[in-house]
Amino acid sequence: MSMLRSTIVVMGLAPAAFAQSLSVGTAKAERGQRANGFLEVPAGSDAATSIPVSVVHGAKPGPVLAIVAGSHGTEYASIVAVVELIKRLDAATLSGSVILVPLVNRASFDQKVVHVNPVDSKSMNRFYPGKSDGTQTDRASFLITKQVIEPADHVIDLHGGDLDESLVPYSYWTKTGNEEQDRRSREMVLAFGLPIVIISADRPKDPAASRYLENTATTRGKPSFTAEAGHAGTVEPEDVEALVRGSLSVMRHLKMLPGAPEPVKSPVWIGAIKSVTSDEPGIFHPLVKRGSYVGKGTRLGLVTDFFGKTVFEAQAPDAGVVLYVCSVPSMTKGGTIANVGVVQADGR
Ligand SMILES: [Zn+2]
Repeated sequence: MSMLRSTIVVMGLAPAAFAQSLSVGTAKAERGQRANGFLEVPAGSDAATSIPVSVVHGAKPGPVLAIVAGSHGTEYASIVAVVELIKRLDAATLSGSVILVPLVNRASFDQKVVHVNPVDSKSMNRFYPGKSDGTQTDRASFLITKQVIEPADHVIDLHGGDLDESLVPYSYWTKTGNEEQDRRSREMVLAFGLPIVIISADRPKDPAASRYLENTATTRGKPSFTAEAGHAGTVEPEDVEALVRGSLSVMRHLKMLPGAPEPVKSPVWIGAIKSVTSDEPGIFHPLVKRGSYVGKGTRLGLVTDFFGKTVFEAQAPDAGVVLYVCSVPSMTKGGTIANVGVVQADGR
């Protein structure tokens, strides 16, 4: 107990934001300034990679917030949103520090490959906390854990619908069972402002096997969350702006920026996600739009063979909101057709 207390006191006296400079990768920012650079992931069993990072080190003390996007390199709206935040943030008016990583998965972005890092075929949001001697995704995750997540007090992980996903904007609130931490992360999610909030209570609890980027922060006691906006390869201004405005609102909530946050008033809380997959390969034809409300049994889409004959009809397994629906005709056996979110009365 006394050890724990003394640790907290030491952390309270010397957070990174008080430091004269803050370094992440090759970006070293002096107090009141910004610096851009790269997290250099060294070569190992496969190629090296270089992940862009911008450090905005505020003139005044405050928390360290990390905002990350592009673990899936074709979720473009979220990547563009972080670049927009890099342009808009001003170290002179900032209390605390912001570490911005606009694009984790460079190879996915460059080659327009969905869901995974084409170098090792791994999702870059499933292998945290990473390891220094694995494949490129493991090594990148290891570096992000050490250099981005560990120095941060809070993490926001931004995603969106991938090229093959027509997605309605939503946030995730991760419930850990730690009441105080959950209360603080819930406030951040509400401050972000997206109208739909998915409650996820089934994330790993072991910091050494955290899997997800946000969960790496959450299992290390840092109130954090994930948010998604953008769909099917588009960069719609309203999606980008929702992510930018949400991030700035969270910074106001954390007193990093002057002004009041603009929290969502009465969000739709999703208590469970029902994923619908195809029993057959073929050509997918959606019958619902993202964000629409469906009843149990509502037809979500059809899969035809390559001669036009219907081989599979997808129905909603429960009543709820279409969180996303497949946006392209390519359909494999076992491929995701849609995610339906089951609404619950309140966010507890
Ligand atoms: Zn993603």
